[in-house]
Amino acid sequence: MNTMAKDYYKTLGVTKDSSPDDIKKAYRQLAKKYHPDANPTNKKEAEEKFKEISEAYEVLSDPDKKAVYDRTGSVEFSSGGSNFSWQDFTHYSDFEDLFSRIFGNSGFGGSAGESFFSGFRNEGPDLDLAIRVRVSLQDVYYGTKKTVKYRHNVTCEECNGTGAKGGETITCPTCHGTGQERIVQGQGFFRMVSVITCRDCGGKGSKPKEVCPVCKGTGTVPKTEVIELNIPRGAPNNLKIRYKGKGQSHNGRSGDMFIVLTVDEEPGYRRSGDDIYLGWEISFPEAALGTEVDMTIFRDTFKMKVPAGTQPGDVIKIKGAGFYRMNTSNRGDAHVTVQVVVPKKLTSRQKELLEEFMDLGEKKHSWIHR
Ligand SMILES: [Zn+2]
Ligand SMILES: [Zn+2]
Repeated sequence: MNTMAKDYYKTLGVTKDSSPDDIKKAYRQLAKKYHPDANPTNKKEAEEKFKEISEAYEVLSDPDKKAVYDRTGSVEFSSGGSNFSWQDFTHYSDFEDLFSRIFGNSGFGGSAGESFFSGFRNEGPDLDLAIRVRVSLQDVYYGTKKTVKYRHNVTCEECNGTGAKGGETITCPTCHGTGQERIVQGQGFFRMVSVITCRDCGGKGSKPKEVCPVCKGTGTVPKTEVIELNIPRGAPNNLKIRYKGKGQSHNGRSGDMFIVLTVDEEPGYRRSGDDIYLGWEISFPEAALGTEVDMTIFRDTFKMKVPAGTQPGDVIKIKGAGFYRMNTSNRGDAHVTVQVVVPKKLTSRQKELLEEFMDLGEKKHSWIHR
């Protein structure tokens, strides 16, 4: 693999001073240009380029990785080592329009993912699969279970993945066992000879004497897989969960399945780290006199102390009412913005009391002019 220092800035056409927005814009533009779908005639090069810019974006969009890269000229990816693979990419949901075709929308992205990833032939086909799963904010507040169903190819048991009936093979007549093919392209002066993997035998140098009747010679059979997903409470957006060996199979090798979590936003709630932000209505007398109210977050009720003289827009913090930090029993806080409700209808008694209240106040100070 390439061990030379990579210039991620050059790859994306940005500089060290470019803003996160500019970097995102640059990536989006290049990703559209090199999207495999937009390059049907030179898919392989486009896919390589697509992977390159995705690697650069993965590093430059992450302040921590960027700092390490700026300092040392390389970074370590989550899969270990400095070689970027698609499982290191954490921005699928940021570019949904670009990646939704690859992963599919419903979470049944298996076969589409395979055709995209299989384009990277350098180290044999990439057998990893990824499926995006959407959950609600409430799901990650409590943690939840989900069932994910998908189809993938598994090794054919009949022929042990050889594709040959009874395992019997013959030497490939196209490449005579070398596994390589010579291709002549262009004419005259511009004639170019290139050596590629034999298309007849896929580089194996041998072919089945008789094709396996179960897998039709492919060595794999489709299988529907069901994964019972345990989504931990406090799971962050873009969490990646790996299922070893549950990806595609090819020549006896199996890739991994990656579940990539998308946590949907929920109207009325905002999440920031482990904290939750929301609004809560209280009455004008409650704000003025102070009280303790029951307020709810999803299915939980919390006691909220409202101090006397609370103003509209004041934020009351409820400690420990936020999200769990994943895999711990620590919780964030809730930040509740108080909305003071002014009654639209009053009974005559209420009116009387409020008028009396007003007469007692310093009416001469008109608050409008303050
Ligand atoms: Zn061959
Ligand atoms: Zn078979």
